[in-house]
Amino acid sequence: MFRRIRRALLLRKPIDSESSAVVSALPLWKALTESEKTRLLRDVRILVHEKNWQGVGMALSMEHKVTIAAYAARIVLYRGIDEYRDLHSIYVFPSSISERNADSSGRFLGMANNLGQVLLSWAAVKKGIRKSNDGHCVTTHEFAHVLDAADGSFDGTPVLNRGAYAPWARVMSEHFLQLRAASRKKRVIDEYGATNEAEFFAVATEFYFEKPNSLKKRAPELFLALDSYYKQKST
Ligand SMILES: [Zn+2]
Repeated sequence: MFRRIRRALLLRKPIDSESSAVVSALPLWKALTESEKTRLLRDVRILVHEKNWQGVGMALSMEHKVTIAAYAARIVLYRGIDEYRDLHSIYVFPSSISERNADSSGRFLGMANNLGQVLLSWAAVKKGIRKSNDGHCVTTHEFAHVLDAADGSFDGTPVLNRGAYAPWARVMSEHFLQLRAASRKKRVIDEYGATNEAEFFAVATEFYFEKPNSLKKRAPELFLALDSYYKQKST
């Protein structure tokens, strides 16, 4: 109730020019329709205002917050921003948090945990958005983990509509096992997705948003499963 009033008051004011300039300069902006742009700007403002943002070893500017919020908002553009209701804090580090959070190539990625926190390296965020079609975006990846964990577990299955669980499980496990067995050339998504089901969902999400045409062509069933999840309004 209070949140609804606070939101209404926030959105009554026009967006500040700095924030809208940052969002409209991001690589994701050009691909959006006019109505998607309007929705994205609204959702960015909600995330920036309602979540706890902390810089660790760095001061956070509006640019940091708005950039991360834009990539977080993009993946729930159709489902609705309240998919992040259990997310409380976003911590941003200048470069790396610890070696334990690096992948096999030693790359720092970021982290989402079940305490409602996302941790991101700003250097990794910038690297992830530089190329919008290479299938790598740490921000998209970590926020996909948040969606996955909305039902309490990191298992590669976000909250789905009733009746959608069985087909989801079939398609996801089939493609997960295929990825585990595939040679480098045959891999449809990055091999990091073969780590476990949760990483599979996060990496598949990166590919869904960054290489949709390739995913659609090479793994149509996987594309359709993700499409029906990301394009559906949550209830
Ligand atoms: Zn991950």
